[in-house]
Amino acid sequence: MTPLLTTRGLSRFYGGLKAVDGVDFAVMPGEIRAIIGPNGAGKTTFASLVCGRVEPSSGRIVFDGSDITDMPPHRRARLGIAYTFQITSVFANLTAYDNVALPVQRTLTDGRGHGGVHAGVMSALERVGLAGRENAIAGTLSYGHQRLLEVAMGLALKPRLLILDEPTQGLSDGEIDNFIALVREIARDATVLLIEHNMPVVMQLADRITVMNLGKILAEGTPEQIRANSHVQHAYLGTPEEAEADG
Ligand code: ATP
Repeated sequence: MTPLLTTRGLSRFYGGLKAVDGVDFAVMPGEIRAIIGPNGAGKTTFASLVCGRVEPSSGRIVFDGSDITDMPPHRRARLGIAYTFQITSVFANLTAYDNVALPVQRTLTDGRGHGGVHAGVMSALERVGLAGRENAIAGTLSYGHQRLLEVAMGLALKPRLLILDEPTQGLSDGEIDNFIALVREIARDATVLLIEHNMPVVMQLADRITVMNLGKILAEGTPEQIRANSHVQHAYLGTPEEAEADG
C-alpha cells in the first residue's frame, strides 16, 4: 500500500524559530493518526503546511501520488483535504444549516458531490450530533458545538484526508464519547489526522501516534509503543510519578 500523504524534509521557519524542522512523515489510507506534543511543538504549523494555509520554507508534500507543495489551498480542498482549526472559522451570523450548505454547494459545483444540498447538510449535521440545531445562529452555539459544526463543514467536503486540530476542546464527556464514535465512522472511508491533547481520546482512537517536539518528530508508533517510550514520557507525558502528582 502507498501512503495517502507523505512529507519529505518539510520545514517552516519564522525568523530563527524552526516551527517545523525537516519532517519526514507518511500516513496510510484509512488510518487514524494522532499528532501529539507539547504546546509550541509545531503540530498546528505542520497541519497548516499540509492544507496549504502556510507555505513551507523547504521540503515537499505529496498527496495521493501528486506533489501538492505549490498548490493553493482551494485546489488541495478539491483533491479532498479538509481541515478544522483551533480558532473556529464558522460564520457566526449564519445558521448552522447555512454554514454547512456552503461546503456542500462547493462539492456539487466541482462535481464531487451528488444529491441535493438539503440532504447533504442534514446528513453532515446529523453525523456530528447537531441534528435539531440547524436553525441556530452559529455564533450562539457553545464553543464545543461550534467545533462540531466545523467538523460537519469539513465532512460536507467529502474529504479523503480530514485534519482535526484539537476537536474535543470545549466538549463535555458525553460529547467526547460521541465524537470518538464519529471519528471511527469517518475513518471507514477517509484518513484522519488528529491533533489532540486529550490523551484518553488519542489512546482510544489512534492507529498510530506521531509525537512532535521542537518542530521535529520525536517518536512514532502504536499507542502501546508510545505509552512505553521513555523519551516521550520525559518530553511530554510526564513520568508516572509526575502524572500522579498532577492528579
Ligand atoms: P499548541 O499545542 O499550543 O497548538 P503547536 O504544537 O500546534 O502548539 P504551533 O502552533 O505549530 O505549535 O507553533 C510552533 C511554533 O511556531 C511556536 O513556537 C509558535 O509560537 C511558532 N509560530 C507559529 N505560527 C507562527 C507565526 N505565524 N509567526 C511566528 N511564529 C509562529
